[in-house]
Amino acid sequence: MFSRVLSGRNSAVVAASLGAGALVSSYIMTESGVSAGEKTKLYPPSADFPDLRKHNNCMASALTPAIYGRLRDKLTPNNWSVDQCIQTGVDNPGHPFIKTVGMVAGDEESYEVFADLFDPVIKDRHNGYDPKTMKHPTDLDSSKITNGMFDEKYVLSSRVRTGRSIRGLSLPPACSRAERREVERVTVQALSGLKDDLAGKYYSLTEMTEQEQQQLIDEHFLFDKPVSPLLTASGMARDWPDARGIWHNNEKTFLIWINEEDHTRVISMEKGGNMQRVFDRFCRGLKEVERLIEERGWEFMWNERLGYILTCPSNLGTGLRAGVHVRLPILSKDKRFNKILDNLRLQKRGTGGVDTAAVGDTFDISNLDRLGKSEVELVQCVVDGVNYLIDCEKKLEKGQDITVPSPVSQFKK
Ligand code: ADP
Ligand code: MG
Repeated sequence: MFSRVLSGRNSAVVAASLGAGALVSSYIMTESGVSAGEKTKLYPPSADFPDLRKHNNCMASALTPAIYGRLRDKLTPNNWSVDQCIQTGVDNPGHPFIKTVGMVAGDEESYEVFADLFDPVIKDRHNGYDPKTMKHPTDLDSSKITNGMFDEKYVLSSRVRTGRSIRGLSLPPACSRAERREVERVTVQALSGLKDDLAGKYYSLTEMTEQEQQQLIDEHFLFDKPVSPLLTASGMARDWPDARGIWHNNEKTFLIWINEEDHTRVISMEKGGNMQRVFDRFCRGLKEVERLIEERGWEFMWNERLGYILTCPSNLGTGLRAGVHVRLPILSKDKRFNKILDNLRLQKRGTGGVDTAAVGDTFDISNLDRLGKSEVELVQCVVDGVNYLIDCEKKLEKGQDITVPSPVSQFKK
């Protein structure tokens, strides 16, 4: 009976309000009671093991029958299972443009209860980072960046984003309608405290017209409609567009998405190549958002091994994706392009976002990793990497040769 009460949705709120230690103890009590009592399985795990033979994602590479056998009948305090975590990766064997992770978390505790699977996936995705032994650094001092101004003949726009999750509420794949609306309420209330150049307004998806929404998407300010099978298969698109929206300042240079893939996404962006200014505003705005959330008695999900906790393991740590829209007409057709990107730990996306192809030789180039390196290190990696790509493009324009740089080293095993 006791474990049944604790395994309910409210336990996360109770545990969160008591602090991290309580999270651990509520999980232990749940594990002993729930796995046998609440979820009777008629078939052994071997009969349930997904067919992953045609799959190419990190989850499919890491999941073995032994790991599945250990995890199938476990539940988090919010009643979330490993099968729910991996559903998106089972239903989507691959992605045309990027290597996906293939699993998501339903709540903060997913990363602990299902660590046997999340840990190897995290290590694979984040260049060897070992969540068992390593600690994640945070550094939001943007004055440390050097060479943060790109050649604007090539770079059309610059952007830095992260995500933040509100402790005690389930993540988008698992949240109830009430929890999702609570995320919206808490965040919008906090954001009303932003001042000066950051001051702005909330625009709810349910209240804007179709044209207003489409224009925000086309101008790259707003997340796409829930067209991505990765999103729908994970459960994140349930009840769409209920409690989704975008908050932005008047200049549309500081924006916060609410209840898309994460509880919140915090974005700084502008046209041109001034990554230094974009990152300055990002750091200043993000610290202010955190202060306003905490002022109201809430906090972000965070721990020292995984950094900031987000829905997709690819976004753990900093959650930071710093990127540019950059024109590389010659280099992008060179057969060494992908190798150069891999070695610089950079990712290539299409102009309209992760599910689109490049338009007119313009690519979204950003950091591949988020975890184990600080915000400052990751932005510097993008600054140096994109400057390297632009140098290559200039050399190719002049008919000169280019070299593939040696790979950025892995975290020590
Ligand atoms: P995210 O990782 O932030 O979710 P997505 O790939 O889903 O990114 O794209 C979200 C939106 O952000 C898309 O409209 C995309 O075109 C836009 N975007 C991404 N990077 C840039 C950039 N450097 N400049 C302008 N728009 C961008
Ligand atoms: Mg996205």
